[in-house]
Amino acid sequence: MDTSNLAARREVILHAATARGFLDAEDIPLAAFIDIDAVASNIGALEAAFPSNISVLHAFASKANSIVPVLAGLRELGMGCEVASEGELAQALAAGFDPEKIVFDSPAKTRRELRQALELGVALNIDNFQELDRIEQIVAQVPSSSPLGIRINPQIGVGQIVAMSTAGSSSKFGVPMEDEGNREAILARYAANPGLNRVHTHVGSQGCPLPLIGAGIAKVVELADEINVRAGRKQVTTIDIGGGLPVDFETDNPLSNFKAYVAQLQESAPRLFSGDYAVVTEFGRSILAKFGFTASYVEYTKVSGGQHIAITHAGANVATRTVFMPNEWPLRVTAHSPDGKEKTGGLVGQDIAGPCCFAGDVVARDRAMPILEQGDIVALLDTGTYYASTPFTYNSIQEPPVYGATFDDRGEVTFTVLREQQTMANLLDASGSQLMTSGHRGSWARVKPGCK
Ligand SMILES: *Cc1c(COP(=O)(O)O)cnc(C)c1O
Repeated sequence: MDTSNLAARREVILHAATARGFLDAEDIPLAAFIDIDAVASNIGALEAAFPSNISVLHAFASKANSIVPVLAGLRELGMGCEVASEGELAQALAAGFDPEKIVFDSPAKTRRELRQALELGVALNIDNFQELDRIEQIVAQVPSSSPLGIRINPQIGVGQIVAMSTAGSSSKFGVPMEDEGNREAILARYAANPGLNRVHTHVGSQGCPLPLIGAGIAKVVELADEINVRAGRKQVTTIDIGGGLPVDFETDNPLSNFKAYVAQLQESAPRLFSGDYAVVTEFGRSILAKFGFTASYVEYTKVSGGQHIAITHAGANVATRTVFMPNEWPLRVTAHSPDGKEKTGGLVGQDIAGPCCFAGDVVARDRAMPILEQGDIVALLDTGTYYASTPFTYNSIQEPPVYGATFDDRGEVTFTVLREQQTMANLLDASGSQLMTSGHRGSWARVKPGCK
């Protein structure tokens, strides 16, 4: 089945999932799906977009979807992995990534994280000069094969979502290259440390227009050229250009913008493609977002003050950003009958609400859709990254299962389990329940109520 017809594939996936009990009104009212064939063709498009004369490692930004079997699948499709915490590093290693294919970002790396990454030989993008000091101290004692780069904030301005923009003049990330004295300081650190062989930038995520991303990357390519001229050799061998390619949340067009992105870089930063540098990318959202959706049964419907409301299981627990920042992160929602078919009929403005106990737990307000009834299904589209893979534990709602779907030549779906529905035992563990039996819980009974 054609991987470009995402709407038709969703219907088939939902039909198969309800028929085979992967989505179940009683036991599994909420689940997320990833269309693996569509992901594979998207990664093919990513690889094809870059010219073949340069070596490129496409490192998936694991915060976008850190489910270990998803990371393992992306590894099998040829990707590397970008991590930004000890937990994400552990997930990348569990997914089988070779340390040479892992890139470690994070503005808050602890000494322990740095030592671990340096021992493994994982590439480090160094956020600031204090972190570089620490790394130099560690490497002086235990030599490391880790590629090292400084994260540069090119300070070229913010995109449409300020919270997602990292290249404003006072962003918390990287070394701001235009601040008084910083350019010289950066050049001096490279001159003093021959182990610094990369430069890194990441202009922002979603909402950064291509010319802005291009301008930021152009500045670090120019910096790399200058470092190498001063060194009189190819000290910087690799440029990590980050991720942040915006995703279309408005249509079912399955094509990511990789071609336009590369064309923009060819215009803004042609030296990137000179063959003098290897390239690392760190795309997250543009790899997976459009090929995942989150499905929930409609548990109840009501009319309140004249407003139609459908109560579902998909709220802030799986669509945290959309619920808390509805204007920045609107989602498309489709209405389906219990058999998975997309509903047709007159459009009625409806609130699509979640299960959480606060009034703002609404993923779409007064959205014009065919009228929803008990037992119908809603699908939140383009949620393959930063949604069900990053659950919010408010109200202790079980984390939903995540399934991968593949299609055979006859259009039949096969499901694989990428993450099981969270068990009650796991949920209780995560909230400290084991301390009730291990004896470590100090009793509060001897503490008298009242002031001391
Ligand atoms: C979040 C992040 C990315 C990925 O951003 P996307 O918008 O998901 O492509 C890449 N690099 C760094 C350093 C990040 O923080």
